[in-house]
Amino acid sequence: MLCPCCHHDETRVIDSRASADNAVRRRRECLKCRRRFTTYEKAEQAPLKVIKKDGTRAPFDREKLRSGIAKACHKRPIDPEKIDRLVADIESDMLDSFEREVPSHEIGERVSGSLKDLDDVAYLRFVSVYEGFQGASDFAQELQPILRGAR
Ligand SMILES: [Zn+2]
Repeated sequence: MLCPCCHHDETRVIDSRASADNAVRRRRECLKCRRRFTTYEKAEQAPLKVIKKDGTRAPFDREKLRSGIAKACHKRPIDPEKIDRLVADIESDMLDSFEREVPSHEIGERVSGSLKDLDDVAYLRFVSVYEGFQGASDFAQELQPILRGAR
């Protein structure tokens, strides 16, 4: 951190507190000229990229993920806040596990895994789109383990 007055590069933090929008406000003192100044520091997170099936990269689209999940949950007794929470959890999981680039199927599997726990119908709707179900037999195949579990 350079002093804005003398450009000396050693400063000490006198005070540190959280400010709005996840920034940290720090009061600093230059060790050379002793002048005090304030900084607002904000962690920068590299944007997540998705590796598509054809190998191309696209920026992670939170809204697209949300609308895909919301569609699957349409008219199901699922709190919209739960969907927001799920989207946020998936994004941060992907950032933790993959840092910069995540294959699209990893996101799809994570979503279907979460929906399976949340709601059977939402889960089936999601995988039918995601797996590109061709007909009733695909549904029947996915339904078998669910029906067995329900007994
Ligand atoms: Zn200074």
